[in-house]
Amino acid sequence: MPVFDEPGAAAPSVRPSKGTINLVHLYPREMSIYGDLGNTRCLAARIARHGYTANVIGHHPGSLLDRSAHLVVGGGGQDSGQARVEEDLFANADTLRGLAADGVPMMMICGTYQLFGNAFVTVEGQRLPGLGILDVTTQGNAKRMIGPSVLETEFGTIVGYENHSGSTTLSAGQSPFGVVRHGFGNNGEDQTGGARTANVFGHYLHGPVLPANPRFADALVAYAAELATGRPFEPEPQDDGVADQARTRQIRRLLGSDSAR
Ligand code: GLN
Repeated sequence: MPVFDEPGAAAPSVRPSKGTINLVHLYPREMSIYGDLGNTRCLAARIARHGYTANVIGHHPGSLLDRSAHLVVGGGGQDSGQARVEEDLFANADTLRGLAADGVPMMMICGTYQLFGNAFVTVEGQRLPGLGILDVTTQGNAKRMIGPSVLETEFGTIVGYENHSGSTTLSAGQSPFGVVRHGFGNNGEDQTGGARTANVFGHYLHGPVLPANPRFADALVAYAAELATGRPFEPEPQDDGVADQARTRQIRRLLGSDSAR
């Protein structure tokens, strides 16, 4: 079932497509807030602009995922939305774990990030077990962590917006996605932002995050293109001037004038 009806999402190219990338959006109804759907749109658009074809697949509770996904994204939601997708997540656990082990790029935000960890315990004490793909555990709190967020990552300085009560702790040995330069990140205490295992990225950045951070978006596309075609990613030049300006200005505003890159 399509996630959105956007004629520009498929490659409108006169040249032959370099290959088809299956982009799976997990739970677009239950887990997609603060603009998270924009990440799927951004990835579909960039896949097309790089000369590939985006096959966007919305995964809804009650259906079975197969192993054909080359790129998987999931967004944030309310605690109640997380509880609604739990059963389906476990019905598809082996597939998702297998895809992660195969190096399939995945980006899980906020509520889905928490469910890709070991467990999320809500503020009322309800324990929602997670898939354990990321070795993190999240505890809900009465106080929310809200505001703009800046992470330093291997894909440069990334900006977004966070709004979560869950406080996430990385187990020993779990790599963070980035280091917090502004905002709360995983827990507001240890400066870690998100988590990364293989090509699975979890973090708290909404926004949507990818249009403002095209380098990260293209890294996900590159991993996916290589899996889909068995060949190195063949990028096309992109004009990211507006996105770069928007990101740079936000970083300057939050961190000061010498900080933007
Ligand atoms: N329920 C989670 C929390 O508040 C997730 C929030 C979200 O996905 N934005 O921690």
